[in-house]
Amino acid sequence: MPVSAPPGPRSRATRALYLIPLLALLATGCASASGAEPDADPTAAIPLPGPDDGSSDEGSPGTAGAGDGAHEPVGDGPLHDRVVVIDPGHNGGNAEASSEINRLVPAGPQQKACDTVGAETGSGYPEHLFNWELSLLVKERLEADGATVILTREDDEGVGPCINERAEIGNEADADAALSIHADGGPETGRGFHVIVPGEVEGYTEEIVEPSRELAEDLRREYREGTDIPYADYLAQDGLDERTDLGGLNMSTVPKVFLEAGNMRNPEDAALLEDPQWQERAANSIARALAVYLLRE
Ligand SMILES: [Zn+2]
Repeated sequence: MPVSAPPGPRSRATRALYLIPLLALLATGCASASGAEPDADPTAAIPLPGPDDGSSDEGSPGTAGAGDGAHEPVGDGPLHDRVVVIDPGHNGGNAEASSEINRLVPAGPQQKACDTVGAETGSGYPEHLFNWELSLLVKERLEADGATVILTREDDEGVGPCINERAEIGNEADADAALSIHADGGPETGRGFHVIVPGEVEGYTEEIVEPSRELAEDLRREYREGTDIPYADYLAQDGLDERTDLGGLNMSTVPKVFLEAGNMRNPEDAALLEDPQWQERAANSIARALAVYLLRE
């Protein structure tokens, strides 16, 4: 099927916006991006610990990677000792590599396919590319505030990595938080986003259920505030869905959630997902959610 041109490369002027430090966004409640009055944004009231309040090492052992010395801080911002893994779902080469991505890999108590191809909008904008572009925007924002950000793939042309390897990247990095970015391929009539949290899977997810839910709630709130996409109306509950069958969550030892950023098959959602300016706003909200979560730890 012919694939229409995806949103093109962003201009330099737009790119400069990436460098607005998150702290400024946090302080203003992201009002400039959402168009809301600062006082009207309830998220502006979230109490944020200062970067130097010394509480960063009090998280539960095994989940807080901050301060373990494994990573060189990349900046002086408030997130300078935090490590975040961003996992752009799927990959551009998956569709041409069915035997590779269909092989079974450990996914918890069961095995699942290494990876899948992903969804696309009615105009042919593929999910793997959306995931990749949004992940880069989030990465730039977090790095502007000093976080170390690791992506699970290096471009949008390759195959995989497999779901268990994506989880392993977060584990190896001892990430403070990991986020898989996806968009759904739901029914055309259904719209909205949801955040997937790990349910308890004995021997796998016990340690991450609670912190992952906190992360999910931060993400659900900020994403709902910062985008025009409502909670999904065709699955999940109030934008949250607990799953015990996803290898990317079951194999993670660090707090991790999936964002299903919208329904690519729904024309209203698709129009937003394809819009580079909307993507900037979405990235603001996602980065903000991660910063709020990381600064609370
Ligand atoms: Zn996906």
